[in-house]
Amino acid sequence: MAFEGLADRLQSTLQKLKGKGKVTEADVKEMMREVRLALLEADVNFKVVKDFIKRVSERAVGQDVLKSLTPGQQVIKVVQEELTALMGGEQSKIAVAPKAPTVIMMVGLQGAGKTTTTGKLANLLRKKHNRNPLLVAADVYRPAAIKQLETLGKQLSMSVFSLGDQVSPVEIAKQAIAYAKEEHHDYVLIDTAGRLHVDENLMEELEQIKELTNPHEIFLVVDAMTGQDAVNVADSFNKQLGLTGVVLTKLDGDTRGGAALSIRAVTNTPIKFVGLGEKMDAIDAFHPERMASRILGMGDVLTLIEKAQANVDEEKAKELEAKLRTQSFTFDDFLEQLAQVRQMGPLDELIGMLPGANKMKGLKNLQVDEKQISHVEAIIRSMTKAEKTNPEIINASRRKRIAKGSGRSVQEVNRLLKQFEDMKKMMKQMTNMSKGKKKGMKLP
Ligand code: GDP
Repeated sequence: MAFEGLADRLQSTLQKLKGKGKVTEADVKEMMREVRLALLEADVNFKVVKDFIKRVSERAVGQDVLKSLTPGQQVIKVVQEELTALMGGEQSKIAVAPKAPTVIMMVGLQGAGKTTTTGKLANLLRKKHNRNPLLVAADVYRPAAIKQLETLGKQLSMSVFSLGDQVSPVEIAKQAIAYAKEEHHDYVLIDTAGRLHVDENLMEELEQIKELTNPHEIFLVVDAMTGQDAVNVADSFNKQLGLTGVVLTKLDGDTRGGAALSIRAVTNTPIKFVGLGEKMDAIDAFHPERMASRILGMGDVLTLIEKAQANVDEEKAKELEAKLRTQSFTFDDFLEQLAQVRQMGPLDELIGMLPGANKMKGLKNLQVDEKQISHVEAIIRSMTKAEKTNPEIINASRRKRIAKGSGRSVQEVNRLLKQFEDMKKMMKQMTNMSKGKKKGMKLP
């Protein structure tokens, strides 16, 4: 999980302060030393760290904090607010041109994920904002980039404008905008040419495209895994081209977090989106406050709720709740649940949004293996209708048959049956507990 090391260190440092009724300046100083080290180790730009520590220290030894009833909590709040500010404060939204089409130039170095992100962004604009984007294949230098965008376009059933790799990107951009107007596309996403390094030719070409197309947004795509290199790349692009936003990709990897925490402060350009995987829906708007909460182990319940709302059918949820209450939950319901949770995104990412998830014993080292879920699904699918509804009829010979049918071992089948039984028992207890509560009984 991204930010893991930083989150662990910051949380254990701040934990020491949490319950304290009295916090001295010396406590704050000691804590700031540790926060500073944690940030530097996470590869945050040293100047950014210095300023951050200065701001937090000043606020944390202020009278409001030291004299408050819960000074420890107050210091944590200051750290959270300053982390949020460091990443840009408010969430930045994507521009809408007063007169269509809105032009977005996608820029970046090769391999950062520019072409993939162009597809993801178009997909997001259509799905979430009901827009009709045009993809423009203007990366004429990276072999196969045009083909890649065309494939993405096909996959998304979206138009791709391309003139091959023998026409200059400036000409492609020019014709693409005329085409978008004719065909009533309200967004134009230009996948410009990347290079291996920032160089003069690249910048010149991008400046020409900028001059000609007057883009409403220029998004730089950078790879979060490259840490301070990403920050330097962002700085050069911004100085030469004037960026309106950054898309930070590969945040699903175990990046230490340095780029996410430094880019805004160094370049004064907000991170607008983050990439969280290779699939076309693996993109999220960047919310500084939510990210700060996650780093501090407070979870990101808002994003979790949003994902649930977007993917879970309310009627079905109600039905399920009733089934749980009456204990008529079957393996079929279980399968449906798995499918719904899967739609929300990779499981370890979802777990990472729970408050205190990285402190929970067992969860921390839990590598959620998507394959294992497929195995569970295969086992359930090999059951007969009667078995799914009444698992207690599954005897030894049935277990063997199910194992064979799903290509899993009998032990795995046993384990799943046992888990299902345990889950039902737990539900029974919970229902009894809530019944007791209603009657005014004391909970254990
Ligand atoms: P470009 O040269 O900048 O256009 O890069 P591509 O779009 O071809 O991406 C390079 C590689 O990074 C591809 O294998 C992508 O699938 C992968 N990639 C892009 N974004 C992400 C992301 O957010 N997470 C992960 N894990 N991989 C990504």
